[in-house]
Amino acid sequence: VSGCTFCAIVASRLPASLVHEDPVVLAFLDVHPRNPGHTLVVPVERHVSLSDLPEATAAQLFVVAHRIARALRGSSVRCEAVSLGLADGAAAGQEVSHVHLHVRPRFAGDARRAPRVPSRAELDELALDIRTRLQATASAD
Ligand SMILES: [Zn+2]
Repeated sequence: VSGCTFCAIVASRLPASLVHEDPVVLAFLDVHPRNPGHTLVVPVERHVSLSDLPEATAAQLFVVAHRIARALRGSSVRCEAVSLGLADGAAAGQEVSHVHLHVRPRFAGDARRAPRVPSRAELDELALDIRTRLQATASAD
């Protein structure tokens, strides 16, 4: 058993405010969000590096990030723009040894704001909003 936080979330051993789940990837809100709605998309199977990730899993990671980016723009969070980020390797700033793709809502001037740590209740409420939006946009395709 590894000490990986994301594996513990996948296994439901740690709480997470889920935005999306399927057999290949899981998406949940970052507990230290850069902005409200900051979501992490992670493969269910543990892969440390992008180079280890099967291509189909990498594709699904991006498909889900794409859907979340669209859902964020229609949700209650302030979202004028979206940043996607994937740090692959310690020298790139990877802090958790489990591939993860950041989907961050952005707005003008946000970089000057100090990040605030939200409560689990706030995260759960926000995750529900984004999840609902995600399902609405998915069924419109
Ligand atoms: Zn892991």
